[in-house]
Amino acid sequence: MIDESNTKNTLSDSGAETTASLESSQKKIPEKKDYQIDIFRDWCKSCGICSAFCPRQCIQLDESGSPFVKDSKLCSGCGWCEVHCPDFAISVRQKRRRTTRENVD
Ligand code: SF4
Ligand code: SF4
Repeated sequence: MIDESNTKNTLSDSGAETTASLESSQKKIPEKKDYQIDIFRDWCKSCGICSAFCPRQCIQLDESGSPFVKDSKLCSGCGWCEVHCPDFAISVRQKRRRTTRENVD
């Protein structure tokens, strides 16, 4: 004998699974954020702390020990350089994306 209630449950569960798998496949991958890294030369004393703390090696030191932004695309926006700079000489902020309207204007 066929247990109809069980068959209904199985169909219903299967439908739910399909819906869930569709929803997960439609989830968007978050866009990579871009960051603007500014070093204020007048305040920087070339201690190298920002470079030492940067986990992505975005900030490097030149031959005279002054920091420079090697590759801002690697920046995760963690803010470690900012919070460790003793002279508030570095700023990291997320770049604003242009809207379609701004691109047209
Ligand atoms: S931590 Fe600040 S003062 Fe030191 S090198 Fe970096 S920006 Fe300059
Ligand atoms: S915000 Fe983080 S990843 Fe970006 S430059 Fe500073 S320490 Fe490096």
